[in-house]
Amino acid sequence: CGVIGIYGPGKKVARLAYFGMHALQHRGQESAGMAVGDGQEISIHKAMGLVTEVFGEKKIAEIENEKSQVTIGHVRYSTTGSSLVSNAQPLVFRYAKGMLAVAHNGNLTNASELRQDLAVTGAVFQTTTDTEVIVNLLARYSQSSLEEALMKVMIDIKGSYSVLVMTENRLLGMRDPYGVRPLCLGRLDGAYVLASESCALDTMGATFIRDIEPGEIVVIDEKGLTSLKTLSPLRKASCIFEYIYFARPDSVIDGIWVNLARRAMGRQLAREVQIDADIVIGVPDSGTAAAIGYSLESGIPFEEGLMKNRYVGRTFIQPTQEMRSQAVRLKLNAIKKAVEGKRVIMIDDSIVRGTTSGKIVQMLRQAGAKEVHMLVSSPPITYPCYYGIDTAVRKELIAAVKTIEEIRELIGADSLHYLTEEGILEAMGQQSDTMTGKDFCTACFTGDYPIEVSDKHDMQDPS
Ligand code: 5GP
Ligand code: SF4
Ligand code: MG
Repeated sequence: CGVIGIYGPGKKVARLAYFGMHALQHRGQESAGMAVGDGQEISIHKAMGLVTEVFGEKKIAEIENEKSQVTIGHVRYSTTGSSLVSNAQPLVFRYAKGMLAVAHNGNLTNASELRQDLAVTGAVFQTTTDTEVIVNLLARYSQSSLEEALMKVMIDIKGSYSVLVMTENRLLGMRDPYGVRPLCLGRLDGAYVLASESCALDTMGATFIRDIEPGEIVVIDEKGLTSLKTLSPLRKASCIFEYIYFARPDSVIDGIWVNLARRAMGRQLAREVQIDADIVIGVPDSGTAAAIGYSLESGIPFEEGLMKNRYVGRTFIQPTQEMRSQAVRLKLNAIKKAVEGKRVIMIDDSIVRGTTSGKIVQMLRQAGAKEVHMLVSSPPITYPCYYGIDTAVRKELIAAVKTIEEIRELIGADSLHYLTEEGILEAMGQQSDTMTGKDFCTACFTGDYPIEVSDKHDMQDPS
């Protein structure tokens, strides 16, 4: 999911958030929502669909007025079994001290425990999201100030969370003590912005200030910005998959440019795997940067070998295997003249189910490629993610049930190679002055989960 929050009295905060949400669309296509506070009341609009489908001039005008001063927005990631409008965010509720809205990116790993505890003491739930657990905890701590309540919530909840909370006239943000999901801070003509990714700041014309630190709570109101450092992390565990696939290449997360990280992975891949080939191509969009890196390091020319139809959104793709195969062809096509008669190295960022790769190899062969070598710029994904990356997809992980040779055969490539675990950490470490390979979560490759996961079965609704 993606979150954005703006505090800016006198600014068109809803309109600005709308721009920011566009830039975060890749983080979730299932639903979109925005809450706006005008000092007295919070108004909310949310629905299933893309940002453009859910919002427009009319909707923005409805929820915004001349007193609007604070807003939070959310785009939700699609997972099976939970495509319900009732699970759309932000969640808005009235409690002892007024109104609150909450938007969450991440996944709590002790949500079912907390849910049971809360239910015993009389809490009721309207959704199946773990975000509502946060809402109920905030309500439970309503005797405290909101910042104290958030600190208490932080002690109760486990897992990954970049959370935005707003009242009628304040904006608060918090990032989990491991810093799994990103959250950054920007400024725009005196307004403050919190966003999942810096690309949202760029889109709005805001200036990037810094990342919110793991375990930090920021409070933004008429007094300005106050930072509260709460829990000190045992270790940092920034999600490596944000850099591999999830985040946009034009974002900078924890000091590392996503595009450069992907290039470095491609360069590392070239150091690890040498293949006699004529051209290197990337699977657009997410495999392109790694393919360029591979080409730069190996000297094998980069070619545009595949064309992506940018009007086929992810929401278009139906969740059956048959439809998925069809969808690959709707989305990608080989550029015949580029690959004909060539020995091709095709690079993608990751293999999940193997559906895409199999279809593309076939496509390249039909277009006349002499050889197709598939290289993957990350290690095999063998474990599910419990921290908010598409778990529904991850149940079907091909590398968890098949050997590399079996996968190669299945996708029909001449050879198949993955980047090593050491290699990807090396590539990431090179990109940062402050972080080493140890500062990333790599659990989907290693099974080494940095944060205790107490409810592995309650995974229907990552935010
Ligand atoms: P496959 O066909 O192997 O299932 O999908 C591989 C493609 O999906 C890759 O090109 C990769 O960019 C993309 N991908 C990687 N992780 C995810 C994920 O968590 N969700 C979705 N929807 N796509 C992913
Ligand atoms: Fe990211 Fe993988 Fe860790 Fe999930 S398990 S947070 S996808 S690195
Ligand atoms: Mg891809």
